[in-house]
Amino acid sequence: MREDLQVFDNVLQLIGNTPLIHLNRITQDFEGDFFAKVEAFNPGHSTKDRIALHIIEEAEKKGILKPGDTIIETTSGNTGFSIAMVSIIKGYECILAVSSKSSKDKIDMLRSMGAKVYVCPAHVSADDPRSYYQVAKRMHDEIKGSVYINQYFNELNIEAHYKSTGPEIWKQTEGKITHLVACSGTGGTISGTAKFLKEQNPNIRIIGIDAYGSVLKKYHETGEFDSTEIYPYRIEGLGKNLIPTATDFESIDKFVKVSDEESAHTARELAKTEGLFVGYTSGAAVQGVKQLAEEGEFDENSKVVVIFPDHGSRYMSKVYSDDWMNEQGFFDSKHEKSTNRIEF
Ligand code: PMP
Repeated sequence: MREDLQVFDNVLQLIGNTPLIHLNRITQDFEGDFFAKVEAFNPGHSTKDRIALHIIEEAEKKGILKPGDTIIETTSGNTGFSIAMVSIIKGYECILAVSSKSSKDKIDMLRSMGAKVYVCPAHVSADDPRSYYQVAKRMHDEIKGSVYINQYFNELNIEAHYKSTGPEIWKQTEGKITHLVACSGTGGTISGTAKFLKEQNPNIRIIGIDAYGSVLKKYHETGEFDSTEIYPYRIEGLGKNLIPTATDFESIDKFVKVSDEESAHTARELAKTEGLFVGYTSGAAVQGVKQLAEEGEFDENSKVVVIFPDHGSRYMSKVYSDDWMNEQGFFDSKHEKSTNRIEF
């Protein structure tokens, strides 16, 4: 490898060290300085490359994985893509149980990367035998020599971000970061990054973004699992219908809930204002920033880092499709349809 010449032995050497990009327009009315940690610059185009590589290499170090063994995971798509990529380079089989809520593009992409994909119904409870958790567990029991990544309950998920995302952000902001804003799904990103940052400066505010229809915010505030909070929503990868142990709730100062509709429009706005073509949850994170600014969270000294988990190309048939937006009823008097399309 000659990193100085940008020559690498394989694609895995490009994981991490993603850029921090200043937001110049979308946050211009708010006090403070805002930066996006754009995880789409990972070779698998999402933040999940970090955990796939870390968890698989830790299993190798412990002698759990041998060449030809099988790696199993439940995934909304991104983690699956990253595991498939790492598996190809390292010579493992990859089996993925995914939610039917995942976009068709994501599922096709996983299959293109050599993974075996099982599509499971999204709106059943976690203990239902049809859920992707139960399907993955069953396959892990049945396949000898298999490793179950189990990202929602694996502390190495937190450790991956503690060892990479956190130190990168600290260095990139020269220790001046005041706020971290990150979506919470498994909670690995926010918890691991927060752990590292709070060790450097305990005053850094850590803010999690949750979805309406998810239990995380309520659990953080009350310590109770309230199943009445659960209902279907459209954002993929954010929020949860269970309490993941990969979330360290104590490291998070506050949760903000964002809607499907506003998050979708904010993702589209990011493309048009900042030239950043990023995923639905990046829109959700900036939607959270907007709400936080309205609540007076930031002042002129704030240096806010917002994690952008993945790339917009994975949402062509959803957020970036006018037809899909229309079907969801997301174009209304507040949000007009795109005006840059000329129809004959
Ligand atoms: N955004 C997207 C698109 C994701 O796939 C995920 C992972 N489920 C997240 C955000 C949340 O990251 P984490 O699981 O580390 O909380």
